[in-house]
Amino acid sequence: MEPAPFENELTFQTHRAEGAEESVHDRYESAVESLLYDLGDSHPLRIGGEAVEREKTFTVTSPGDHDELVGEFAAGDADAVESAVDAASAAFDDWRGDWERRVEIFRSAAGIMRDRKYDLAATMTVENGKNRTEALADVDEAIDFLRFYSRELERNEGYVYDTGEPTPDQHTGNRLVPYGVFAVVSPFNFPLAILTGMTSGALLAGNTVVVKPASTTPLIAHQFVDILEEAGIPDGVVNLVTGGGRDVGQPLVEHEDVAGVAFTGSRAVGLGIQETFFELGKRGPVIAELGGKNPVIVSENADLEKAVSGVLWGAFSFSGQKCSATSRVYVDASLYDRFVTALVEATEDLEIGRPRDRETDVSPIIDDGALERYREITDQARSVGTVRTGGTEVEREDLPDGRYVEPTVVTDVPHEHELAREEHFLPFVTVHEVSDFEEALEKSNDSDYGLCAGLFSEDGSEVEDWFDGIEAGMCYVNRSQSATTGALVQAQPFGGWKFSGTTGKFAGGYWYLPQFMREQTRTVVGDVGDPTA
Ligand code: NAP
Ligand code: MG
Repeated sequence: MEPAPFENELTFQTHRAEGAEESVHDRYESAVESLLYDLGDSHPLRIGGEAVEREKTFTVTSPGDHDELVGEFAAGDADAVESAVDAASAAFDDWRGDWERRVEIFRSAAGIMRDRKYDLAATMTVENGKNRTEALADVDEAIDFLRFYSRELERNEGYVYDTGEPTPDQHTGNRLVPYGVFAVVSPFNFPLAILTGMTSGALLAGNTVVVKPASTTPLIAHQFVDILEEAGIPDGVVNLVTGGGRDVGQPLVEHEDVAGVAFTGSRAVGLGIQETFFELGKRGPVIAELGGKNPVIVSENADLEKAVSGVLWGAFSFSGQKCSATSRVYVDASLYDRFVTALVEATEDLEIGRPRDRETDVSPIIDDGALERYREITDQARSVGTVRTGGTEVEREDLPDGRYVEPTVVTDVPHEHELAREEHFLPFVTVHEVSDFEEALEKSNDSDYGLCAGLFSEDGSEVEDWFDGIEAGMCYVNRSQSATTGALVQAQPFGGWKFSGTTGKFAGGYWYLPQFMREQTRTVVGDVGDPTA
């Protein structure tokens, strides 16, 4: 059955269409004000519906202002993981039964999240440095996940099928059933949307979860768990253990009662988790969404203006800290000089600033590790290529003490060089001259990754050749809003080929939920019990 179209949340767009954009700004700004007033609390672990304090804690400060203390958080460890997995195991039997109840709880959570969207966006601005457009888009996507996966579970009637009587007296049914306890390990860069997507996928399917958010973004994770609790999720169904990757993530994945893992993050960590999980003899799924090195082709048939705009926003929105960020651009020789000049000019017009300021296009980067990487790759770029613009840290009197860096455009780096092959997760893009479309396509595909890709071309047959030839999960043509970022739930399911993902099934799409379940076929001969109940 063809499902009805899905309406995405799209806060900015819908308000703009109604001439009410200013009200979005007003509500966001007052949410930031009240949050700043309220920051710096201390937060426990949340296990079995209880607040669990730890002696050891860690603090988080804002990437845009080191003087802003986001909060102090309990540091989890293997013992905490043990209790959390026990709580999740104990809650499983009751939770897995009634799928309609789960749909009800998650719809109610979507409603609460919608009511609170400005507060959640404000949290992300302070905690991970997203500007208002990016932060609201992150909340919108989280709401979409809650609603879309609920709708999918309902549309498939809990994935319970009556398969009839194949031979006289054999009554049969087939269904998808949950595995048990899932580990959910999430990244800093979509700290609400991705956390919500993975958690709600696992939970709607009937599993219970232990959630380990990125160490840099624990506050938004608490606010998400608050919402689930208010929506009526039973104790122990969702457990939150904050702390480091090695201290919490590792023992969680290794725990013998953890039946499956949902992970989004870097390739190295994700593949390490997958290896560990299988080495321990576990058989459940490792649903991992990994990195990207997303190529864009500007063909000789491109509209230059669209291409410049698409690459600009693809590379530099949220400072390039998106798995979908545009990171290498192959430009036909006939347009190359004009493209580079225009991209450099547009990049220099971008506003680098505090995440909460309305004018800010380029916000600070997440942590000291990211800053160190920025120094390394810009140094390297100066020696192997040409830095056309950017490449240095920003010191400005009007900026607080934070991690502000210039968006960087680099040319003359060989396609084979690691600067053009490795994911950097920074506002850094390399531009390469190519002699034709075939060379551009070949170089685009010459990568371990296969997440997003973009093409700028006004030639329909070139567009079709590209769709058929490009090795990537999400493929966008002539997208001036952003060449590679900004996928929407349902219409643009999101996932990776090659080393960009482990399952080939995409978040926000029709095949996402079934990954969290396994099949069971039920047969009864005679009249005792109903295999389709
Ligand atoms: P990351 O460094 O790989 O961390 C992801 C999560 O794994 C964090 O919660 C991290 O904890 C945890 N972790 C670290 N070491 C671990 C271990 N040994 N065992 C278990 N868990 C461990 O990724 P990130 O820096 O947060 O995010 C950026 C990466 O995510 C990029 O590579 C990006 O491409 C990818 N990403 C992919 C997608 C997609 O859909 N394909 C979407 C978004 C992001 P700590 O925070 O404590 O280190
Ligand atoms: Mg990291």
